[in-house]
Amino acid sequence: MLYEGKAKKVYTTEDPDVLIVSYKDDATAFNGLKKGTIVGKGAINNRMTNFVFKKLEAKGVPTHLVEELNDRETAVKKVEIVPLEVIIRNYSAGSFAKKMGMEEGIMFACPTLEFSYKNDDLGDPFINDYYALALNLATKEEIEAITKYAFLVNEVLIEYFDTLNIDLIDFKIEFGRYHGQIILADEISPDTCRLWDKDTHEKLDKDRFRRDLGGVEDAYEEIFRRLGIQ
Ligand code: ADP
Ligand code: UDP
Repeated sequence: MLYEGKAKKVYTTEDPDVLIVSYKDDATAFNGLKKGTIVGKGAINNRMTNFVFKKLEAKGVPTHLVEELNDRETAVKKVEIVPLEVIIRNYSAGSFAKKMGMEEGIMFACPTLEFSYKNDDLGDPFINDYYALALNLATKEEIEAITKYAFLVNEVLIEYFDTLNIDLIDFKIEFGRYHGQIILADEISPDTCRLWDKDTHEKLDKDRFRRDLGGVEDAYEEIFRRLGIQ
């Protein structure tokens, strides 16, 4: 094992370019202060991420996906993670709504992008492009590639979730360096997206865990069911 994170374990393989990620049922929120288990989450997040990454590859977003090995485990390209959490928002929610004194669910005139510095000790603080450049977190070219791919991911996902009667409120993605190229890494799942039913506005994501709304497992299963993954 190379690394155990909050939601996944990462293992090395005989191939120095390939890692195996193993998705756990463990859930955390508020920078690890709240801990729990969401039964079945690991398998759902693994299979959803791979399903979505294949769609994104087809639309021109390079990803770390190599091969799904089983329900919980996937072989991925080993990248050097760019220490930026890239957050795209289409509607107000979460920390944005709080900071801006807005209610949740207000659609923006256009999508927004923001960066957090991926650093648990600091609580992933909000930063801008200039901080990222000044702190050597990424080059200008890398930030341009990340920004371009992040908005493309948003376009593809909005259109796809629309067919599942889901509004994509916001999400977080991570990118990595792989042989000089920027590629999409980590995961896209109900842990990392806010997904609301279009008609009822029911939350079908990790906010059910964060806010003790109940029905956490059912929400993850509902997303998985709508994706229709075989
Ligand atoms: P955290 O580290 O935030 O607790 P996880 O439990 O999801 O998160 O752990 C997975 C770790 O693996 C994250 O730090 C993530 O940045 C990293 N990671 C994801 N994809 C890759 C990859 N392809 N190569 C190397 N590291 C990766
Ligand atoms: N997010 C995430 N990991 C984090 C922080 C945020 O996956 O460490 C996702 C979160 O699920 C949401 C989006 O990023 O879809 C925006 O989150 P926000 O900044 O509103 O933070 P939160 O309210 O979750 O603290």
